[in-house]
Amino acid sequence: MTQTCPPWLLAANWKMNMDHLQTLEFIRELSILMPEKEAENSGVEMAIFPPFTSLRTAQVFSTSYQVALSLGAQDVSPHPSGAFTGEVSASMLARLGCKYVLVGHSESRKNHHETREELVGKAKNAIASQMTPILCVGEEEKGGEGMEEICSQAEEVFCDLGKEEREKVIVSYEPVWAIGSSVTASPQRISRAASALKADLFKKFGASPRILYGGSVNEGNIESLKGLGLGGFLVGRASLSPAEFTAIFRCLEKGKGLA
Ligand code: PEP
Repeated sequence: MTQTCPPWLLAANWKMNMDHLQTLEFIRELSILMPEKEAENSGVEMAIFPPFTSLRTAQVFSTSYQVALSLGAQDVSPHPSGAFTGEVSASMLARLGCKYVLVGHSESRKNHHETREELVGKAKNAIASQMTPILCVGEEEKGGEGMEEICSQAEEVFCDLGKEEREKVIVSYEPVWAIGSSVTASPQRISRAASALKADLFKKFGASPRILYGGSVNEGNIESLKGLGLGGFLVGRASLSPAEFTAIFRCLEKGKGLA
């Protein structure tokens, strides 16, 4: 099944923040700031990626408060089921209404020492459960060129996916040095990275994935990041406040569509 979404995807990576009660409060506030009808006709799809323990709350209360929110998970097991203590399978996430799954976020890569095979397994299992993997790639160092590094991170997952699977992957460019740092990559660098990823993945695999940017996006800088040929943004810290998340949404809504 091919998943479709509006011109912009605004994805909130909450990391290890927001227990289920805080999630409920976030959704209640969002329902006041953002009437469902406005969100539905906005050309912006909002998605939250809470911790696993808050997913059910987000699923139930976004429906009961009538908030137009998609759901995503921050990680997924590379295995379909079985004796994997502490892991959560793709089918479990899909049954909780998740549409998206982050794969290879730099914090997971570093903290869990994820292997290439695990990243491929995560993406494949997500797709098999009708979810869209958001594959995160990003260079470690601020100073270097970095384009080869990000292309090879994407290639090493794409090369083990089938043609139809590749069409379902979203790629998020997230320079590691920009995450949680208050400094975004420059618009030129983001543009260059998006073009490099698109050209490389098309040349090698015939794939044309949607490209997101993540790394210290907030309401103060979103305007300057809109016109770069991106399909959306992955937002960490600034997504924890309903007011700031709404401000970012409104800035994208004004622009309507891929610039
Ligand atoms: C992230 O962790 O994906 C992220 C983009 O975080 P922040 O916006 O806080 O830099």
